[in-house]
Amino acid sequence: MIIYFNGRLVSAAEAVLTPVDHGFLYGHGLFETMRAYHGRVFKFKEHINRLKAAADFLGWPKLPPYAELSDAITSVLNDNQLTNASVRLTCSRGQGTPRPDPGSCGQPAIAVFASPLPPPLPPAGWSVTTVAFRRNLSSPLVKIKSANYLDNILAKQEAKAKGAEEALMLNTDGFVAEGSMSNLFMASEGRLITPDIYSGILPGITRSTIIELAKAAGIIVEERQVRPEELADADEIFLTSSIMEVIPVKMLDGCPVGKSQTAGRGYFTVKLIQLYRELTAKE
Ligand code: PMP
Repeated sequence: MIIYFNGRLVSAAEAVLTPVDHGFLYGHGLFETMRAYHGRVFKFKEHINRLKAAADFLGWPKLPPYAELSDAITSVLNDNQLTNASVRLTCSRGQGTPRPDPGSCGQPAIAVFASPLPPPLPPAGWSVTTVAFRRNLSSPLVKIKSANYLDNILAKQEAKAKGAEEALMLNTDGFVAEGSMSNLFMASEGRLITPDIYSGILPGITRSTIIELAKAAGIIVEERQVRPEELADADEIFLTSSIMEVIPVKMLDGCPVGKSQTAGRGYFTVKLIQLYRELTAKE
């Protein structure tokens, strides 16, 4: 595997991070997971904007410019002979003293690697289960894609232990937030509804794209607080993420989604899967 690491293309074995890097010591890091279609990352600018906004929020030194990161991704894809792939860009705060003082750190360490996509979704979609972990509304960790993913990992682990593919996390006010690695939408009474950005969600790039596509197709979209009971009555539920795109949800907490036999794969889900596919093929 060829990796971009701090400005150079190296083998995975050569990409070595010191144990006094604050990403390793304190989880002080950021990342983006992007999807490449035909050798190009979809919504590259949006991903890098989110990353740079998070780095600014944390008071990091400037990250490399867009063109350098874009070239790094292209080289990594080419050198690993991948065109449709998952692309991971990880930034670690860098080497510093062993104390949690980021002021002691030098430049962030930056790694880009690409890997094959996960297997396609089962046609009926995923089962989702509500987990005990809540998205903490007062924590910055829910708004930025920090390398501290313990909440998400534990939520996913809990979902898997309950036989589901994804977790549904509520927030500390008891409203619906998001999946452990995805945003959530539901369709009800002819509208598309998704938790707003104050609900303790990562502002997903796929979420924004789906909202734009839905609005352009004349669908009414509501971004607002969502009560968990509303999901039980929803006609359709789906999840979104850059890698998995649009994921139909067939079961929520052991109950089939929607009243029809389509098990969640209803009009809105099918339509938006199609529109998203068309867009990724075009851009
Ligand atoms: N929420 C969380 C917690 C995630 O990890 C992800 C995956 N990055 C998403 C939402 C979806 O974000 P995106 O559409 O930008 O991939």
